[in-house]
Amino acid sequence: MTKSIPADRAFNDDEIGVRCLFCAHETRKTVGWIRAHTQMECPACGTIVDIESKNFRVGRIGNEA
Ligand SMILES: [Zn+2]
Repeated sequence: MTKSIPADRAFNDDEIGVRCLFCAHETRKTVGWIRAHTQMECPACGTIVDIESKNFRVGRIGNEA
């Protein structure tokens, strides 16, 4: 059985990886957290990372087009 979930509500509790552009460290954040923030401090190097959708990696490994 497949449920149709509105895209803007689907993954609020899902964790996605936000990748630091400086050191490539990937930090897991929930979509709900990301919606409330526009920047993240990288715990590995301290760089402030602008959170943009292009930086998200939503578990689609090996299928980058
Ligand atoms: Zn970093």
